[in-house]
Amino acid sequence: MLDIASNRPALPPEIARRRTFAIISHPDAGKTTLTEKFLLFGGAIQMAGQVRAKGEARRTRSDFMQMEKDRGISVSASAMSFDYKTFRFNLVDTPGHSDFSEDTYRTLTAVDAAVMVIDGAKGVESQTQKLFEVCRLRDLPILTFCNKMDRESRDTFEIIDEIQEMLAIDVTPASWPIGQGRDFIGCYDILRDRLELMDRADRNKVAESIEINGLDDPKLAQHVPAHLLEQLHEELEMARALLPELDPQAVLEGHMTPIWFGSAINSFGVKELMDGIGSYGPEPQIQSAEPRKISPEETKVSGFVFKVQANMDPKHRDRVAFVRMASGHFKRGMKLTHVRTKKPMAVSNPVLFLASDRELADEAWAGDIIGIPNHGQLRIGDTLTEGEALRVTGIPSFAPELLQGVRAGDPMKAKHLEKALMQFAEEGAAKVFKPMIGSGFIVGVVGALQFEVLASRIELEYGLPVRFDGSQFTSARWVAGDKAALDKFINANKQHIAHDHDGDTVYLTRLQWDIDRVIRDYPELKLTATKEMM
Ligand code: GDP
Repeated sequence: MLDIASNRPALPPEIARRRTFAIISHPDAGKTTLTEKFLLFGGAIQMAGQVRAKGEARRTRSDFMQMEKDRGISVSASAMSFDYKTFRFNLVDTPGHSDFSEDTYRTLTAVDAAVMVIDGAKGVESQTQKLFEVCRLRDLPILTFCNKMDRESRDTFEIIDEIQEMLAIDVTPASWPIGQGRDFIGCYDILRDRLELMDRADRNKVAESIEINGLDDPKLAQHVPAHLLEQLHEELEMARALLPELDPQAVLEGHMTPIWFGSAINSFGVKELMDGIGSYGPEPQIQSAEPRKISPEETKVSGFVFKVQANMDPKHRDRVAFVRMASGHFKRGMKLTHVRTKKPMAVSNPVLFLASDRELADEAWAGDIIGIPNHGQLRIGDTLTEGEALRVTGIPSFAPELLQGVRAGDPMKAKHLEKALMQFAEEGAAKVFKPMIGSGFIVGVVGALQFEVLASRIELEYGLPVRFDGSQFTSARWVAGDKAALDKFINANKQHIAHDHDGDTVYLTRLQWDIDRVIRDYPELKLTATKEMM
């Protein structure tokens, strides 16, 4: 048996069995394929390639699902829940586009661990590295899956070295590949002393697993050709000498990653990885909040919004807020307090994203993700509690790196445009600044592609053709401080001042020199490139 890395022995079993994680990878490494196999082994789908909800009859009983069906949108892919052995897995999807986005960062605030998928032939690629750095900011535990071992791949030590060097994290092998490319026959399961043999003929079949009594067991020779066995012996001996042993605590703290080798498309190594998520997952963790932290085992329910998804239908304005439960046992119909507005909110139609049979959530535990349909009251960063004024922290908003002015093609539609822009600002899709002087808005994004996406969404959802033009500004900083100092600063710099959708003051400029000057001349003010969402 593997020992479970638990730093929270007091957790009720329903919470302790939850594993909430995301997959990070470079495009093409195999994230989609791996997700499908997770669902397959989680019993959520019958055949890989069929990620589809069953039970039409049950589905129609929910208005929400009807709405989803009518509009042909899918929010279900954003979070998927399924059972595996004694565990409940909640897999939260990270957005697919390659521009680093706040969306991705915020998704990673809702999980307790990440599975990093790398391509065995390509190693650590750029997007993997960026996403890894985001995980590191939160010391998230990372489990690594080295995929596509059925094809020509790099030398095992080389792959491990690259991860250690490029990502500065200790790597410990959980399994060891036997053979390479076309000669790849399977893996030696280091954690459990088993031989796992890949079946190339049937891609959905689980690998044959043979218990081995240590590396000297004669059984090995019955299954592994002599030259590969010799190589395995040599490599494992070297690995023992050179690589650290698995230390669950170091994994939990994000200093060490166990690596499994496999082939998602051949369903190989996937179960071992899933067992690993169960063992080292970890269970729902403590959430940082003000004025105190939130422990999952607290009996009172709390949760926070990490994502808002608006609909693609111009006739409706409903949104779904994705809430990560931080504590307690939530039951449908519960009245929660929306801490930002101090208003009660009856959560009567929450949605749980059960991959097998997506439906209304009757209950959810700390660690789960639920969707709450709403009309815009719920914003990213909002906290829901049973009354206590807690505010979950650590969900930042980044200063945009690209700024452009925007105006409606038809000047009479300025009000409409403002409404559309505010919606996207609340969704976290863009920063919207209203300059003190002049008309129009300045929109800020992190990746250039987002301007195009925004323009097409405004046209599609609001029927407004818009034009983005270059802006005289290139940088934005939030400014905070006591009122007198802030007023004085604003009065002296009106040409550079704007307000964001929350009404907070923003300083716009094109010169780093300006920013340095403000910092020097107004020591009582704080200029920041990030702002906590609230
Ligand atoms: P994503 O972009 O990370 O979601 O990657 P996909 O899951 O879409 O996979 C990208 C490509 O790699 C697809 O053509 C897959 O069929 C292929 N692929 C995924 N896993 C494996 C594997 O284990 N071996 C091989 N040879 N190909 C794979």
